[in-house]
Amino acid sequence: MITNASFAKELLIWFDQHGRNHLPWQKDRTGYRVWVSEIMLQQTQVITVIPYFERFMARFPTITDLAEAHSDEVLALWTGLGYYSRARNLHASAIEVVEQHQGEMPTSIDDLVSLKGIGRSTAGAIISQAYNDQGVILDGNVKRLLTRLYAIKGWPGQSQIDKQLWEIATKLTPTTRNADYTQAIMDIGATICKPKQPLCVACPMQARCKALAEDQVATIPTPKPKKLIPHKTISVLLIKNKQGQTLLEQRPNTGIWGGLWSLPEFADLKSLQTQLALDGLPTNTQPITPIKHVFSHYKLTIEPHLLVLENTPKKVSEKAKSQWYDTQQLHTIGLATPIKKLLEKI
Ligand code: SF4
Repeated sequence: MITNASFAKELLIWFDQHGRNHLPWQKDRTGYRVWVSEIMLQQTQVITVIPYFERFMARFPTITDLAEAHSDEVLALWTGLGYYSRARNLHASAIEVVEQHQGEMPTSIDDLVSLKGIGRSTAGAIISQAYNDQGVILDGNVKRLLTRLYAIKGWPGQSQIDKQLWEIATKLTPTTRNADYTQAIMDIGATICKPKQPLCVACPMQARCKALAEDQVATIPTPKPKKLIPHKTISVLLIKNKQGQTLLEQRPNTGIWGGLWSLPEFADLKSLQTQLALDGLPTNTQPITPIKHVFSHYKLTIEPHLLVLENTPKKVSEKAKSQWYDTQQLHTIGLATPIKKLLEKI
């Protein structure tokens, strides 16, 4: 039987010996620093996040600095971290904190979850990590740990299982040492109770783990029912002018790479050629080796076509905001990762 007090106690004993307590966001803990780290850590490993977090904090040490920044600069510092809506939401919420909360990070769950991009678990992490108060967390790693501890079957994304997990997580959360407890449960979920080949021999919970006792660790949590991942192909135009500059377009805020800069995109080579002819531009493009990119919900093949111009038209498509960029300027703007790699290669 897992009781609230004994669970937290054993977790904290483990944390005092093995837990991570030198992460950059554990220094000078503030609601803002914890918030940024939690958003960066969504779907992303600690080791990847650390340099991004440090660069971000060096440039935006306060919420006001972030709120006053141009979105291009925020996205530029996020380039490579993926899931760019996180950066856009962070920026929008920083503006809201400055306008609605006098630049002070909210301290209640309700106020936190009213901000864009902050869900219940992130709000709980901010409450516990920054204010050492009783915030409940249930990120993906903690979900996996709890489903195994209690041998809960069924995909954890289902609402009734999610509800059950929140009830367990709430019951287990202690009233003291909340920052350490939260870090401990996240650490065990991320580093011991890993998705594949969990290190049960090193787990402080092994004596209590129902999945281990029933030899069901390999099958719990139940994976998400599989859907066929669609495959899409697009053509992009790598257009260079006489000065060696590249024409980039800013993508709309919604959809893939929202708000990032990319190359002008076309459904296929035929529509690209048609648009070039309509704009009075040469149509003798040269194909470049296609790039493959995998998103969580589809696979994308990008077929780039190079066009070197004698003259410099302002834009190729009327639909998008476009601008000529020098190679040295590319690090100052948020670029879609495959496009950044392509430009670096060229
Ligand atoms: S004993 Fe193994 S499966 Fe159970 S919680 Fe620990 S690491 Fe996870």
